[in-house]
Amino acid sequence: MIWHAGSVGGTMRERLDDAFYRLRETPPPLLAVSVILALLAAAGILALVVQVSSGGRPARAGAGPDAGHTPAESASDRSTPQPARTPSTHPVTPVPSSPSLVGKVVVIDPGHNGGNAAHPAQINRKVDAGGFLKECDTAGTETDSGYPEHAFTWDVANRVAALLRTHGLTVVLTRANDTGVGPCIDARGRAGGDAHAAAAVSIHADGGPASGTGFHVIGPNRAPDGANAGILTASARLATAMRDAFESATDEAPADYLANQQGIVDRADLGGLNLSVVPKVFIECANMRNLTDAAHVTDPAWRERAAEGIAAGIVTYLSSPPS
Ligand SMILES: [Zn+2]
Repeated sequence: MIWHAGSVGGTMRERLDDAFYRLRETPPPLLAVSVILALLAAAGILALVVQVSSGGRPARAGAGPDAGHTPAESASDRSTPQPARTPSTHPVTPVPSSPSLVGKVVVIDPGHNGGNAAHPAQINRKVDAGGFLKECDTAGTETDSGYPEHAFTWDVANRVAALLRTHGLTVVLTRANDTGVGPCIDARGRAGGDAHAAAAVSIHADGGPASGTGFHVIGPNRAPDGANAGILTASARLATAMRDAFESATDEAPADYLANQQGIVDRADLGGLNLSVVPKVFIECANMRNLTDAAHVTDPAWRERAAEGIAAGIVTYLSSPPS
């Protein structure tokens, strides 16, 4: 290519004039192509700068139209590049889950609280229990060796919560630790509705006769004020699923110290069931006053099996359509 003679060794003004001259001489279609190519190159550089400034990943808005999406959508919407899949030589145990569970809320209510016993004035005050008044809460029972029910329910509740979360469920606990006071039974009863939960379960262990052993599920009967009428049928289904799953996971028999030895009793004297507007049951996992059952509740491995049974009961209930 031979440059115009005037541009060699000329002044800046001469070189600019020369450039304008050559620009004017450029045919219009070729000029348009040149401009488009220049714009594309500039956009490419800009995109590269944005990527580098955001840590090498594509820029992503933190709160856009997708900020309120469900966990299911989040899982498939990760901005981090996923590594290419290669055939694994190790067998992988899949986490059993149902797409229909993802994003649903479950309330788990660990019975009693570690600070209740030291605050009698607070826990003895009367609150609404569904058409009558009842104490805010109690201190709960304990084994003969002094392992308290509140510690048992707190431990099992957290195990249940961890298991449920592997199914994509959102879990709400009614208390944040095992050292506080309350909440009262009315708040525990309303917790499911407050959280828009699909189901709620209160975890307890009984203080029955020392000769009695076994577990039982307590379902709601019609409350004196009738406020829980809408949950009775679904709660009965939850109770059956819970009884069957707990029995299977722990190999425990239904309580032998109750008139009803089928593992399920319905009661209308519990504020936690009377005030619930979502399907709910209690489970009395064992009789802490029985030495055999006491050995179970103080064993972390047994508590894990108990939690597996409770979680399985909830998952079964939520996975099966009403009949
Ligand atoms: Zn209890």
